[in-house]
Amino acid sequence: MSTTQTSKIEIIKSSTTKINSVDFENLNFGAVFTDHLFECDFKNGKWQKPVIKPYAPFLIDPSTRVFHYGQAIFEGMKAYKDDNDDIWLFRPDENYYRFNKSAVRMAMPEVPSAIFMEGLNELLRLDEAWIKKGKGNTMYIRPFMIATGTGVVANPSDEYKFMILLSPAKAYYSGEVKVLIAEHFSRAANGGIGSAKAAGNYAAQFYPTNLANKEGFQQVIWTDDATHTKLEEAGTMNVFFRINDTLLTAPVSERILDGVTRKTLIDLAKSKGIDVEVRPVLVQELVEASKNGTLKEIFGAGTAAVVNPIVGFSFREVYYELPKIENSYALQLKEHLTNIQHKLADDTFGWTVKV
Ligand SMILES: *Cc1c(COP(=O)(O)O)cnc(C)c1O
Repeated sequence: MSTTQTSKIEIIKSSTTKINSVDFENLNFGAVFTDHLFECDFKNGKWQKPVIKPYAPFLIDPSTRVFHYGQAIFEGMKAYKDDNDDIWLFRPDENYYRFNKSAVRMAMPEVPSAIFMEGLNELLRLDEAWIKKGKGNTMYIRPFMIATGTGVVANPSDEYKFMILLSPAKAYYSGEVKVLIAEHFSRAANGGIGSAKAAGNYAAQFYPTNLANKEGFQQVIWTDDATHTKLEEAGTMNVFFRINDTLLTAPVSERILDGVTRKTLIDLAKSKGIDVEVRPVLVQELVEASKNGTLKEIFGAGTAAVVNPIVGFSFREVYYELPKIENSYALQLKEHLTNIQHKLADDTFGWTVKV
């Protein structure tokens, strides 16, 4: 991994701010962006001078590779402001590491830490006023990279653009989520790009998810592509199941994204004395557990929603509803994790990093 880059970041400040036009109490997720963005181009085999500049659209040639061959990857992370006005990131190294893992899989150049981390820290400091205090307020961070070389030739591009956008967000509430267990469509396959955070993985999910929406389900639980017998992810989140008082989740693989929230919840649950089993979870096992009353919870885990409880699932035209329970693991874990992120609970794991 190439991690040396010494050129300082050029900062071009916006002469105006949009901040006064934003209603921070009523934010739609991912819809509003701060005054600035971070950008660094890759050309002639190396990363160019990084720049922070006013957020604005940019011109791009119609033959740009990303439009034709889909070389595009991204990350999703968050920053938080505590009561002392300090800004914190949550396990940012995990996102940085995963970003470069995705880059390698998509034949894109790795981004040096000096560009990714220093760019992110500078950008957060510059648009610091956009990060609001108080639980429920977060700054969603979207690092991404696209192939910017031109020409409709099916080869990896020789030019790329890496950018970081900041989008203020409120706690994400998705309403009641019912899921459909996939029996035909797949999110990922062995040897494919399922463990990369590639834009195309999302595009591929839209059509089957639309079909599920039409049947009244908000999300699809993806199963393994070969047999459709193993439960793998829920929508764009990792997925957990509680059978009796044991928490189950699938091991990460080529088909399952190595989620930061997933691994964090595994450690948090263990620290609370909850039994956690990381092993393949079978569709049949879920159906049986629902029938005999031992299935207590299903929830998705990801940065945006943190924890997303699921109220029921459908498999082969039969709908299985989950019981309403007290002391839900989903809510306990979400509460504990968001308290750590907002510096309201002791961070005994050393996950939070000051900006
Ligand atoms: C981003 C993502 C997740 C969640 O990862 P976090 O690091 O927890 O945000 C899970 N599954 C898929 C497919 C994803 O793209």
